[in-house]
Amino acid sequence: MTPESGLPVWRTAAIVAVGSELLTPSRLDTNSLYLTEQLNAIGIDVVSKAVVGDDHQAVADAFRHAESRADLVVITGGLGPTDDDVTREAVAAALDLRLEEDPAIVAAIERRFAARGLQMPAINRRQALVPRGARVLDNPNGTAPGLWIRDGDSGVLLLPGPPSELKPMFEGWCQTIVVAGGVTPIHRRFIRITGITESHAEEALQPYYEAWQRAQPPVAATILAAMGQIELHLSVRADAGAARAALARAAADACTALGNNVVSDEGKTLEEVVGNLLRARGWTLAIAESCTGGLIASRITDVAFSSDYLQLGVVSYSNASKIDLLNVPADLIEVHGAVSEQVATAMATGARERAHAHIGLGVTGVAGPGGGTARKPVGTVAVAVVGPDGTSRARLHTLRGNRQQIKTWASQVALDSVRRMLLKQSG
Ligand code: AMP
Ligand code: MG
Repeated sequence: MTPESGLPVWRTAAIVAVGSELLTPSRLDTNSLYLTEQLNAIGIDVVSKAVVGDDHQAVADAFRHAESRADLVVITGGLGPTDDDVTREAVAAALDLRLEEDPAIVAAIERRFAARGLQMPAINRRQALVPRGARVLDNPNGTAPGLWIRDGDSGVLLLPGPPSELKPMFEGWCQTIVVAGGVTPIHRRFIRITGITESHAEEALQPYYEAWQRAQPPVAATILAAMGQIELHLSVRADAGAARAALARAAADACTALGNNVVSDEGKTLEEVVGNLLRARGWTLAIAESCTGGLIASRITDVAFSSDYLQLGVVSYSNASKIDLLNVPADLIEVHGAVSEQVATAMATGARERAHAHIGLGVTGVAGPGGGTARKPVGTVAVAVVGPDGTSRARLHTLRGNRQQIKTWASQVALDSVRRMLLKQSG
C-alpha cells in the first residue's frame, strides 16, 4: 500500500472506456467523467478519451493510440469473465506480454462464490489471467481484479466497468500509486448564474478575465450555458491553500460583476439555494404547475430535507382542475387565457391558500409542439410568485427549444422567481 518510489511524473492521461453498450443510445460512459475529476484533483490533465466496443482489435488500437498521446492510460470495462470481455487480452497483446494464471486470484474468486454458497464457474478463471509483470489490484466489490502495468515511463491502469467497483479501487490503491508522481493538483469552483444571457454574463465578466489570468496562481475560466442556466467554471493549478484563496477571490469578483444573478458561487443548485433561503426564513412553499408537469416539485424534492419547506405540489393541467382545485376564477381563464400572468397568479394564490404556505408558485405555459398562437407562441410561459402580505410578481417569458427544453427552462425561471422574491424579502 505504499507509493512506488522513483515514479516518473505523470502529467497527462488518456482514458479508454470499453463496452459495446456504451456505443448504443441507452448507456453513457460516466466512468471517464469520474476519472477526469479524480485525475485533475491530483494534477493530471486528461488529453484524450475514447469509447470502443468489446472488440479485440478496437481495444488494442485505442490503447496504442492512448499510450502515444499520454503518460498514463486508464482503461475501464471489459474485464468480466465472458467471451466479450477482451480488455485484458487486447492490452497484453498490444504490449506483447504473456498472460499467466495467478492462483491467488483464482482462490479469491472461489472464496467470493463460496461466501454465497456457490461454486466458481469455470469461465471466471479468465479473470485470473495476469499479463507478466503486472500488479494485481484488489476489487472488494466484484470478481474482476484491476491491473497496473508499467511500460517504460508509461503507466497503464485497467479497471472494471461497474462504477461501484471502479470508484473505490481508484480512490484507494490506484490513487496512491498515481499521487506518487507528485504533480500540482488542479482545483475547481463552479459558479451558477441565472436570469441573464450568456453574452451578458460574458460582457460583465470580461474585465476580470485578464486579471485572473495574470494572478498568481492564475485562474482559468470557462463559461457554459444551457436552458436558462450559466455555469462559470474556475480552475487553478496550485496547492490547496493557494488555490482556495485564488478561487475565492475570483468568485468574489464574479459576484461583484453579476450581483443577484449569481445563484451560488460554490456550485450549489438553484433548488438547493431556494431551499436554503426558505429554511433560513422559516417559510413554506406551495407549487401549482401546468406545463412543467411536476418538474419543479421534482427538483425541489431532489434536495434532502425539502419536507422542511415544501407543503404542496400539484400538477393542474386542465382548466377544470385549475378552477376546482385552485379556485382560479373561470372568467379569468376566459378573458386572459390559461397561459397568462393573471391565471399564473391565481394558481399561485390558490396553491398558497390551500396549503397555508408562505409562498405560492404558479406556472402555466405552452410547451409545444402544438398549442401555440400568434400572440402566445410555443415557449410562452407565465410564472407567478405570491408571498405573504399580498406581495406578488408575475412575468410572461418567451422560451425557445423543444418540449423537453421548454419544460426544463420553465422550471428554471420559476425557481429563480422564488429565489428573487426571497432575496428581496430578506434584503
Ligand atoms: P464490464 O463487465 O467491466 O465491461 O462492465 C460491466 C458494466 O459496467 C456495464 O454493463 C455497465 O453497466 C458498466 N459500465 C462499463 N463501462 C462503463 C462506463 N465507462 N461508464 C459507466 N458505466 C460503465
Ligand atoms: Mg463490458
